[in-house]
Amino acid sequence: MFEELKNRPADSLLALIKAFQADERAGKIDLGVGVYRDAMGRTPVMRAVKAAEQFLLETQDSKKYLGPEGDLQFVRLLQPIVFGKSPTFVQRLVGIQTPGGSGALRLGAELIQTANPSAKVLLGTPSWPNHAPIFGSARLGVKEYPFLDLTSQQVKFESVIEALSSADPGDVVLLHGCCHNPTGIDFTMEEWRQIAELLVARKLMPFIDLAYQGLGDGLEHDAAPTRMILETVDEALIAYSCDKNFGLYRERVGALYAMARTADDIGKAESNMAALARVNWSMPPDHGAAIVRTILESAEMSAMWRAELEEMCERVNDNRAALAAAAPDLAFISRQRGLFSNLAMSRETAAALRARHGIYMADSGRMNLAGMQPADAGAIITALRAEGC
Ligand code: PMP
Repeated sequence: MFEELKNRPADSLLALIKAFQADERAGKIDLGVGVYRDAMGRTPVMRAVKAAEQFLLETQDSKKYLGPEGDLQFVRLLQPIVFGKSPTFVQRLVGIQTPGGSGALRLGAELIQTANPSAKVLLGTPSWPNHAPIFGSARLGVKEYPFLDLTSQQVKFESVIEALSSADPGDVVLLHGCCHNPTGIDFTMEEWRQIAELLVARKLMPFIDLAYQGLGDGLEHDAAPTRMILETVDEALIAYSCDKNFGLYRERVGALYAMARTADDIGKAESNMAALARVNWSMPPDHGAAIVRTILESAEMSAMWRAELEEMCERVNDNRAALAAAAPDLAFISRQRGLFSNLAMSRETAAALRARHGIYMADSGRMNLAGMQPADAGAIITALRAEGC
């Protein structure tokens, strides 16, 4: 059996972690792995998370099964944060807890495959490297189109318009809700409006991936495009991750929301989401979602969470500003949002930055802006210049 398998390439980001750890130079800087880091280089457990865990430890009196939908109070309490306090479309929403944003994407992909197996998923590139494989492994066709020109750091909006205009009715458009991974480049609100109009005109369904809410310009600002799209279209899927904005990465906390047209359709979406969860993971892991629920149930813990998230967001944006100040030709970095920016560079240049300067970033040129301190800006720019960037 197993001899029929082909070896898969090792995860290059994991190799990057190992290489960074093995590097003994004092000034090494890790802009590789995609997690938030504080000024000490740690990825801390957030204060509100610690408080919620303490509360759960003392009060949780059962670990009995919850069901394929997971913690529905978590799903409900997250709703106003994502969609606003009383959105017009609230009656048309249904949600289910998933193992992370990845689980939500996978479940959404299978829901599409169940409803319309011939639907294609339109994916602007570059994108998160897991997007295309997730849709592909759910046996959906993926149609990639260039979203952005890395050299000019500009969205190729005419290419986006062309891709949507030539899609077939029923096709799905994957959209990063905010803090685009890997480029940090989001559509302007005007571009989002044009996209919304095209979605309606071409009868396309948006699948919004919202994995970094609060890490761009704050919770409300970062959700604005998602809310506008949902006010405009009839149907949508939203894959939400709490793993970054609650710092819960390994706990795997996410949710899939579907917005449907009629009460009947909502019921169908809901029962199919639960059935698909059942055959994939039976039930999602509880602990992380219970933490988020506990935080959102408490005004005090919620305030603690919001304050710390704002600190994290500010830290990343301060790093962006420091790089832009040190290199005016890289000022675009200060206008980009979220953890990542992606410089145009070859693998060889990325390798030289590691070998000669101890600056670690992905081979693609993606850098995690949370991996540095403002005081590192000079060293990073000097290294980039030495390698011709
Ligand atoms: N979407 C994007 C754009 C991401 O960057 C990530 C995580 N790197 C995810 C989804 C998945 O998040 P999770 O860890 O919650 O599965």
